[in-house]
Amino acid sequence: MAAGAQEADGSTGEPSDYAEFIRSRADEIRNRLELVEAQLTGIRSAREEWTDDEHDPEGSTLITEWSRAEGLRGEYRAELAELSQAFERLEAGEYGLCVRCGQPLLEGRLRARPAAKMCVPCLGASR
Ligand SMILES: [Zn+2]
Repeated sequence: MAAGAQEADGSTGEPSDYAEFIRSRADEIRNRLELVEAQLTGIRSAREEWTDDEHDPEGSTLITEWSRAEGLRGEYRAELAELSQAFERLEAGEYGLCVRCGQPLLEGRLRARPAAKMCVPCLGASR
């Protein structure tokens, strides 16, 4: 990026920029979580109608959908928890630093995964 090529709002890379980014990401996940929970509620009521007939082919489809939706719900909840931790680190002035080695994370990595808290080498080492 060329020097002097300022963004119109001048907030690129500022902590407040990340705060907004994390917030909109959390909103998005929260919306998806609501959809998945509505889906689970729908499957649950459909399930009550077929529990008497185990051979109903629709039953296995519902089970597949159920486990998929439950998996997504778990992922979204985990990400929301990570995002709220990211917010705490932002307020503490530690956001964007690797929790293991203290090196700043690449901006591209934070943009792709705002809840990231470890740099790629540390992530590899911790596996
Ligand atoms: Zn690191």
